[in-house]
Amino acid sequence: MTETKQHPVHEQDRLTVTFNDLSSDGAGVAKVHGYTLFVPGALPEEQAEVEVTKTKKQYGFAKLIKTLSASDRRVDPPCELYDRCGGCQLQHLSYEGQLDFKRKQVQDAMTRIGGLTDVDVNPTLGMDHPWTYRNKASVPVAKRDGEFIAGFYQKRSHHIIDMDHCLIQSEDNDEVIQEAKRIAKDCGIEPYNEETHKGILRHIVTRTGNQTGEIMVVLVTKTKELPFRKRFLKELPQKFPGIKSIAHNINPKRTNTIFGDETRTLWGRDLIYDNIGDIKFAISPRSFYQVNPEQTKVLYDKAMELAELNGEETVIDAYCGIGTISLFLAQKAGQVYGVEVVPEAIDDARANAELNDLDNVSFEVGQAEDVIPRWYKDKGIQADVIIVDPPRKGCDEALLQTMIDMQPKRVVYVSCNPATLARDLRILEEGGFKTQEVQPVDQFPQTTHVECVSQLVLK
Ligand code: SAH
Repeated sequence: MTETKQHPVHEQDRLTVTFNDLSSDGAGVAKVHGYTLFVPGALPEEQAEVEVTKTKKQYGFAKLIKTLSASDRRVDPPCELYDRCGGCQLQHLSYEGQLDFKRKQVQDAMTRIGGLTDVDVNPTLGMDHPWTYRNKASVPVAKRDGEFIAGFYQKRSHHIIDMDHCLIQSEDNDEVIQEAKRIAKDCGIEPYNEETHKGILRHIVTRTGNQTGEIMVVLVTKTKELPFRKRFLKELPQKFPGIKSIAHNINPKRTNTIFGDETRTLWGRDLIYDNIGDIKFAISPRSFYQVNPEQTKVLYDKAMELAELNGEETVIDAYCGIGTISLFLAQKAGQVYGVEVVPEAIDDARANAELNDLDNVSFEVGQAEDVIPRWYKDKGIQADVIIVDPPRKGCDEALLQTMIDMQPKRVVYVSCNPATLARDLRILEEGGFKTQEVQPVDQFPQTTHVECVSQLVLK
């Protein structure tokens, strides 16, 4: 009870509020006598009647009851499942509004977290057509009221909802999933049941090569066998000539992880190919690959521009994944060294280097914060340019310290989290670098994900 006395609103209160911001997860933000309320679905500049659902010491949550004045950036979400699906968060905001939102997220992080008041964040680079961009679909299947369904998990739950079209998914993926669903339904294959751990078919996964049009289908079962496999192998490629590979993955475990350890190719090749710019990539069922290749090209072109290579430089690509950035930069660098903690990703990176006849790039498995200091101290590797592309938690301190010690001419920092980016830029600034440019690139339209690339130079 003492807690409720400290703030001006209480659960179940009905209030009229005005929104002045959007939170990082896309909820409208309103202040009530200095107390912050988050309201999903509301937009800045709107006024609405809300009902408080939950209060905490510093902030609370409310639900939108009625919008009293709508923002001129509000649009009708085109997807009819938008309210229930957890996949998109910003369909009710115009695309222009989304791009501004992302720029502001980054600008606010620079100021509030990094204390970098003199950094001017560029306008977000967006897509001309911010839909049908995803090149990978992983669709869970289930039985509901005796019906075979396949679709997506409802927001914050493990309840599967049937879906035929996803508007951010490539049309090829959408159509192939529908056809695979039709076949599965038609032959009566038993969907897997998460609760009882019974049944057979767990997931239908498709991947497409945006530039090549090649399609891969992976059917994930709990069982060793895929029943009615002949029908999938005959009917899918017949209908979709783009299909180059059909694989079967076995996942016998009680887990939310999609794939099990065993994968076998049932039809066609083990992999499909795609290109980003002039670089060709081999994609196998489980390899990591950027999900929006069109914008990945925009991001990497910008990274290339900010690296300012003249063909002679030694470049380090930390957190290199399957070597996408390393190979891209190797086209214009002297020598590139990539490091990544997942061994399978490094196998892919090496195979991709070979596929592209690039012999000025080498890869090592390990933690960037262990490997790069070792390269520097033991091998005397001195980078002219360091690229980092860490996961959400940002760069390890030991790595930042090595970057400061090594004093490369430039650092290009690719980030999927403005908060840790701002924190790390601050540390690098204190270590002698200056932030020159920060460029958000919209990799995930309709969602709140913010990606950006920035350049620091040695002062
Ligand atoms: N640059 C790549 C992948 C970036 S995703 C691309 O553009 O495709 C971040 C990568 O960092 C992941 O592949 C993850 O496995 C890897 N990673 C996470 N922690 C790491 C660490 N401490 N050292 C090296 N790599 C790490």
